[in-house]
Amino acid sequence: MSARGFLRPPLRLLRRLGLLERRCAHCLTPFTPLHGEAFCPHCLPLLAPYQGTACPRCGLPPASPGDTDAPSVPCGHCLADPPPWESIRVYGLYQGALRDCLLRLKFSGELALAAPLGGLLAQRLQACPPPCPAPDCVLAVPQHPDHLRERGYNQAHELAAALCRELRLPLRHDLLHRTRRVQPQAGLDAARRVANVRNSFSASPHQLADAHCWLLDDVMTTGSTARAACSALREAGAASITLLVMARTPSR
Ligand SMILES: [Zn+2]
Ligand SMILES: [Zn+2]
Repeated sequence: MSARGFLRPPLRLLRRLGLLERRCAHCLTPFTPLHGEAFCPHCLPLLAPYQGTACPRCGLPPASPGDTDAPSVPCGHCLADPPPWESIRVYGLYQGALRDCLLRLKFSGELALAAPLGGLLAQRLQACPPPCPAPDCVLAVPQHPDHLRERGYNQAHELAAALCRELRLPLRHDLLHRTRRVQPQAGLDAARRVANVRNSFSASPHQLADAHCWLLDDVMTTGSTARAACSALREAGAASITLLVMARTPSR
């Protein structure tokens, strides 16, 4: 044994002394991670990625459970009005433990949840990479500067930053902007959501021309915000857009 190995305390002893314990990022129960994971053995399975059938354009699962054997084909909404992105990767459905984590990240200032959630998304993308070319830049759906000042952070940006650290990708917060403040989308019907966010983004054409982009949002419901943001990227000349969504509502 080398002198260095001799001096290093054995892992078993550190575990027995509780020195490797951490609190689960979701339920806060102390546990000893075996591989550096942030969630306890009870919570980790509750945060497993959704791997069922879904629309390949908007990530929407089939309306009835009987449809789950059907191959992934675009839903009627996407066939009638194709979205302005090439591909989508949805981590999970907006329910249960994932919904709880995202609500706490967004509304309770629990920024410590961003790194483990971004890490889960990074693992999912490594296991199931998007079909588009590797991204030149990663962006998060931005907030209006007034909104950002009030909340103090943008949860989508925090998730994107964690993802980019894991995958060593360039995060850009200077290429896509909110040009006007909009009402919260929650509580609006689909048509009013579209009108609410229409023309509310601007993108930098000089740096986005021919760029392959990943755009991340924390939650997707009708997709109207993502459509408005991606339309701005498209107008700025983006070559391809992969939309990354941490959680998708199971229905519009
Ligand atoms: Zn837990
Ligand atoms: Zn669809």
